[in-house]
Amino acid sequence: MLLAVLAVGAGPARAAGPMPFFQLPFPCGETWRLATYAGHDDYDIDMTFTGGGSNGRMILAAAGGTISAGWSSGGGGNYAIIDHGGGWRTTYMHMLQPASQSSGWVDGGTPIGWVGSTGNSTGPHLHFEVTRDGGKTEAYFNGSASGITSDGSANTGPIWVNGPVSPARNVTSANCNGGMQVYEAHSANGWRMLPVVGPSGPVTGSATAAIAIGSNKIVYSVKGGRIFETASSIGWNNLWTGIDGAQGTALAALNLNGEKLIYSVVGGYVHEASSNNGWRNLNTGIGGVSNSSISVIALNGVKYIYSIVGGYVHEAHSANGWRNLNTGVPASAVAAITVGTTKILYTVNGGSVYEAASNNGWTNMGTGISGVSGATIAAANLNGEKLIYTMYGGYVHEASSNNGWRNLNSGVTGSRTSVLALSGVKYLYSN
Ligand SMILES: [Zn+2]
Repeated sequence: MLLAVLAVGAGPARAAGPMPFFQLPFPCGETWRLATYAGHDDYDIDMTFTGGGSNGRMILAAAGGTISAGWSSGGGGNYAIIDHGGGWRTTYMHMLQPASQSSGWVDGGTPIGWVGSTGNSTGPHLHFEVTRDGGKTEAYFNGSASGITSDGSANTGPIWVNGPVSPARNVTSANCNGGMQVYEAHSANGWRMLPVVGPSGPVTGSATAAIAIGSNKIVYSVKGGRIFETASSIGWNNLWTGIDGAQGTALAALNLNGEKLIYSVVGGYVHEASSNNGWRNLNTGIGGVSNSSISVIALNGVKYIYSIVGGYVHEAHSANGWRNLNTGVPASAVAAITVGTTKILYTVNGGSVYEAASNNGWTNMGTGISGVSGATIAAANLNGEKLIYTMYGGYVHEASSNNGWRNLNSGVTGSRTSVLALSGVKYLYSN
């Protein structure tokens, strides 16, 4: 947790420009504990993940700027500094490996490295600082003051703050519009992660959804409200569908007899777009829904949408005008599959994973899987084997009904994942 201060250019005072709209330097929806301690510097923040281990978790740029990076012999270990212009800089220390990029421009939300414990550090965490004209200042995230100001010691940061040590607090990331690289990994090659990159550049986004049409893998991603489509058959060339306004990380897709369908949340309503009508994005009327998670399945030509309203999974289907009915299953994230004519829901509630089935009146059963991220879940039916994918400690874990839901680390990193089963191979798209 400790660290020495990197020399930050203390040149002639400049008038600071307006503060950039900083975001927590972690993926959208993740909750991190912000803390300091006596002997730190005032305004310095140590960040640890609340949903599991911090080691290896992705660090994102807090705002756009010019990055520089290296090794700090002063205790910072692998560090990066982003110069946001106008006298504002952010600093990231103790990263697991050298920064992903050591020069040039990075957009806000760009992955810049992974949390580690290099340098003078007693355990994996991100040490984060904001400076204004070379002087440390309080960090703001998504427009709110972090509250981490004083380390309670008169012996550190002497020109800064007096007072008792600032209490720790949890902050959830709204760093949602950035370009997190999407990776593909599959079960046939030991889950090796390969970046999804095509002629128009890397596929990035805050969430993905994957479908297959024949042997063609199609991945939808949302970035900055825009939904993009890419496909293995076109070398992963990434194309904007024209759909805009999608919020959060709720994204689902469906292949219904060759018609490609995309579901997103706009202003609290589920919207549906179809390849058959040029991706016109139409309001289903399903309202009041969370923009963090959504799932869709098809059964006998009927489309079923699962959304989260007021903390409960609701089901709506195309055969009754999308009337949205409460299943009674509490959840922060939902994934649906079909097995025969049975609809099965997998949910995360309070970090634990549950299974509920339509042929059992949605009776909600614990799988025994716990401690996972509440922000995401994916599921697949592979020849009758039910598979669940969750995030635990920054890694995608896979559990199977065939092994009693033992939750095994795939080694695939990220903040979210989607899954596709094709020709007996399981494909994960993580970002
Ligand atoms: Zn620190």
